[in-house]
Amino acid sequence: MEDFRIGNGYDVHALAPGLTLMLGGVRIDSPVGCVAHSDGDVAIHALCDALLGALALGDIGKHFPDSSDEFRGIDSKILLSRTMALVRQEGYTVGNADITIALQAPKLATYIPAMREALSGIMEIPVSAVSVKATTTERLGFVGRGEGCEVYAVALLHRRR
Ligand code: MG
Repeated sequence: MEDFRIGNGYDVHALAPGLTLMLGGVRIDSPVGCVAHSDGDVAIHALCDALLGALALGDIGKHFPDSSDEFRGIDSKILLSRTMALVRQEGYTVGNADITIALQAPKLATYIPAMREALSGIMEIPVSAVSVKATTTERLGFVGRGEGCEVYAVALLHRRR
């Protein structure tokens, strides 16, 4: 018998010129990047929140507060590794994860294989279990105006009973 848990995560960061844009652990060639205390990898943040949410362990801000110097400019891949340590501590492994990135520009299609590779490596699951999708918002709303990047994530966890 298996126990299953599902979680969803959501995150938004504002975009500003001259900052590095990191998404799904991959550096994106872009004139704008996320304004953040960490490296601003909004995709990893949403994924972490999905994993934490599945186990009702609160959110990324609780575990890695943006008031802490420890996390200033931190590589979000480290936050995902630490989140995975909590998942394993509870005896769970990730079944699959699905991430939707809403960004008006640049186009992300060519970066998606590298994101899936990076995230699956950190979560220690097959690439086939990690989905990353990208969409614009047809120029509507803050994403459409290029003011921010928005990410939704869901993750399924399981453990043998
Ligand atoms: Mg964030």
